[in-house]
Amino acid sequence: MAGLYIHIPFCKQACSYCDFYFLTRQQLREPFLEALSEEIYSYKETRYTSEPVTSIYLGGGTPSLLNESQLSGIFKVLHDVFDLQPVEVTMELNPDDVTAEYLSMIRSLGVDRASMGVQSFHEEILSFMHRAHSRDEALAALELLRKTDFPSFTADLIYGNPGQTLQMLEADLLQLLQFNPPHISAYSLTVEPKTRLGKQVDLGRIKPTDDEEVAAHFDLVQTVLSDAGILQYEVSNFSKPGKEAVHNSNYWTHQNYLGFGPSAHSFWWGENEAKRWKNRPDIKHYIDKAPKESVEELELLDMKTLAEERIMLGLRTVKGISAEDLKQKYNFQFSEKQKNWIELQSEKKMLRFENGHLKLTPAGLKISDLLVVDLLSRGS
Ligand code: SF4
Repeated sequence: MAGLYIHIPFCKQACSYCDFYFLTRQQLREPFLEALSEEIYSYKETRYTSEPVTSIYLGGGTPSLLNESQLSGIFKVLHDVFDLQPVEVTMELNPDDVTAEYLSMIRSLGVDRASMGVQSFHEEILSFMHRAHSRDEALAALELLRKTDFPSFTADLIYGNPGQTLQMLEADLLQLLQFNPPHISAYSLTVEPKTRLGKQVDLGRIKPTDDEEVAAHFDLVQTVLSDAGILQYEVSNFSKPGKEAVHNSNYWTHQNYLGFGPSAHSFWWGENEAKRWKNRPDIKHYIDKAPKESVEELELLDMKTLAEERIMLGLRTVKGISAEDLKQKYNFQFSEKQKNWIELQSEKKMLRFENGHLKLTPAGLKISDLLVVDLLSRGS
């Protein structure tokens, strides 16, 4: 069972916090789509097409900048190359691109889950983020998802913005809940170097929100959403039961996936190791050289590295990690030092063992990154 990710690297404008690979110039769209087809076709009749594809994710960038013939071209190539049996086909949409006709068009192409980049309903925050959409456009897009009975959707919110109060965040959450979302991803604002935000922070023009305040935002997100029956299943992801994201969950459990487009990653299991590779984040290079020379990095991951990665990803989820799975699939067992540490953290109520699964408590999830580093540093 494999997943496919397609990176569409075009955006209307650069959001201030974003460090994904994208361009705001649109001229290269057609040559990019040709190179993308070529890259996908290069997998035809290889070992990578031997298993059915169970999830497809169109991300970016902004896939909703593509029109019907561009999108149907991509799906046609995917159909030609892979055995598509998807249980989930997600497409990222920006609110300012959404119309009833657009939703019906992507639905007819097989998209059954819309991922809407809302981020906030406050104009001042949207403007601070340099988003291309307004509050009204976000409300209208969500209303259309409801009206058109789109099969499923998720919305992204960002908290921890400078100047964002708890009241503002609560208002955003309550506003979003009005649309009965099956799934919400809530991320704390991260200051990445080389972004517009990163530069403003470096110049001292913006002071990032302090950690305590961000933690209070995180608490509020957890409380408001769980009160509404939208439960946390990963540090940044919340859903109604049964509406967890299939595609992203597959990343966390090391399922095979292929990524297409500049900057896309792929992961594939071999005999006693796995391979991860990444396309160069450079559209010109991609157009000129794909598919032969698009790969920039190739990593061979041994079982120990994979087990540690699985622990790191698994402990970010509410399900946790199965000790049996670690043993069977990765030939991994916790060291004595790690077992002692687990016992100590259980006493501190940061984690617990339940039905053979090691999982973090809500308090532990808040500091999951610290706990994971601490645990892994005690390996043999
Ligand atoms: S629309 Fe998305 S990918 Fe494009 S700049 Fe904004 S956050 Fe980044």
